[in-house]
Amino acid sequence: MESSIRLFSVRDIAIRMHITFPLILVWAALQFGLFNRGGWAGAIFGIVVTLLLFIIVVLHELGHSFAALHYEVPVKQIVLLPIGGVAQLSRIPEKPGQEFVIAIAGPLVNFGLAILLAGVGLIFGQEISLTHSLQLLDNSGRFTFSSVFSYVYVSNLLLGIFNLLPAFPMDGGRVLRALLATQLSYDTATTIAVFIGQSLAWLLGLWGFLNGGLFLILIAVFIFAGASAERQLVHIRSVLGDLIVEQAYSRQARSLTPESTLRDAVKLTFSTFQADFPVCEGEQLIGLLTHTRLLEALDSHGPDTPVVEVMLTDITPVTPKESMFAVQQRLSEDRLDALPVADGKRFLGLITNRDISEVYRMVSSYPNLIPASKVS
Ligand code: ZN
Repeated sequence: MESSIRLFSVRDIAIRMHITFPLILVWAALQFGLFNRGGWAGAIFGIVVTLLLFIIVVLHELGHSFAALHYEVPVKQIVLLPIGGVAQLSRIPEKPGQEFVIAIAGPLVNFGLAILLAGVGLIFGQEISLTHSLQLLDNSGRFTFSSVFSYVYVSNLLLGIFNLLPAFPMDGGRVLRALLATQLSYDTATTIAVFIGQSLAWLLGLWGFLNGGLFLILIAVFIFAGASAERQLVHIRSVLGDLIVEQAYSRQARSLTPESTLRDAVKLTFSTFQADFPVCEGEQLIGLLTHTRLLEALDSHGPDTPVVEVMLTDITPVTPKESMFAVQQRLSEDRLDALPVADGKRFLGLITNRDISEVYRMVSSYPNLIPASKVS
């Protein structure tokens, strides 16, 4: 089942809504209607301001996306989750200048909007000081132009400021790393930025704990985990980035012929270490029967179906000279366990998640044991 629904697209970037997203609208309606005793007017207020807030989130993510496109970094999609939005870039540039601009572009959109909103507020005779807006929010739930305006104005500002916290996975973490990386190596810059982010998470968590702020503790956990994930990613990249597929793919991988049946595939699964099977016509690679596809097809088509009828044909094989890190990223993004290795159309072998984690473990501990050959 698809976990997100496409809403619309801007410059070929699909804006999608995660299926859990409507939960936040229910929460907002309950929060302002029931808990703040706003009644129906409060519930409508909650839904309206939350929708407006998410328009702001989309604009923030488009800020990152347009900056990324400027550096020719493809943007896959923007996904709206109940906790906010994510612009999925196909890679994070290692050039500090580029990472800096892409990261800061999001919060800059919020500060730009703040100026714009302040202008609109002035025209409609709103007082736009932050304290005044916060005071108004105390009486929120009353569905008036003032209350909606104040809520949107304050949330937009807070969103910009919160995202500048110098901690991964916030934009500020990337800004910090980019600044450090102008003077230090990328790895050292990441280590320091991760350390600062995690220290901040501890402080935030402690603060939340002492003040009984469950929400702050959750944010602290989120920041801590985000920082660890970033360090892990950079470590994997530094280990795998220098290696190429040729150094570790399985040359002995078994393949199926177009006439092989699903029954044959099951037999091979039991008698080999393999779970995913390339399908070849002579030496030519024509498709891939993944383990998941095999199980689905057994269910829907039965064991005597030829693999050629159910195999995946839209899988681009990897080349022996491709970087292992790129392959690892592709496997995890496409949720695959294996990719065929081919030279043009000529089938050479298979590279699997297991091969890659084996190499990763080995290179981390015994860097000299891996057959030499670097990315050219
Ligand atoms: Zn952002």
